Amino acid sequence: MVSDKIKQIIRDVPDFPKPGIIFKDITPILKNPELCNEIAEALAEQLIDVEIDVVAGIESRGFLFGLALAQQLNVPFVPIRKAGKLPYKTIQQSYDLEYGSATLEVHEDAFDVGQKVLIHDDLLATGGTVVAASALVQKLGAEVAGYSFLINLAFLNGKQRLKAYSDKLFSLADY
Ligand code: 5GP
Repeated sequence: MVSDKIKQIIRDVPDFPKPGIIFKDITPILKNPELCNEIAEALAEQLIDVEIDVVAGIESRGFLFGLALAQQLNVPFVPIRKAGKLPYKTIQQSYDLEYGSATLEVHEDAFDVGQKVLIHDDLLATGGTVVAASALVQKLGAEVAGYSFLINLAFLNGKQRLKAYSDKLFSLADY
């Protein structure tokens, strides 16, 4: 199964980016083109009953399979980026990190009013990042259609924070 293959291939890196954190490194997946295809297909398969007009991927690991997923679904892809990276006019949403805060941006013409936006990232931890992405979707008058991740650190209960936007949450490998 694809979830077993993901769990086997990802690498736990202790003390990255800070002491005490065990980071799940997904880069070994990218060296396996067959598994990349399988993942893109499995992500799309999970969403078969969800109405989706556009996939939004979050910088930077959310771009890797976000675009692949959008192509599988034959819908547009929109990049949501860290502050200061997008060239055209943007809207912003800040969110709290464990220490300090961060800001996500999207182009102001990224979504049309009423569009159903599937938010994709590589990994769900506390949910702070995708909550900020969801706020950007709503600020432009679009709707969150659901969430898609390669990995859900379910023990952190990020799902709880997403319910205000959508209860449709899909992941390929859970911990
Ligand atoms: P959250 O906002 O849900 O707490 O954190 C999720 C965000 O941080 C995602 O954008 C994800 O890429 C990144 N992230 C946090 N921990 C990890 C990890 O262990 N592995 C990977 N690949 N990304 C992580």
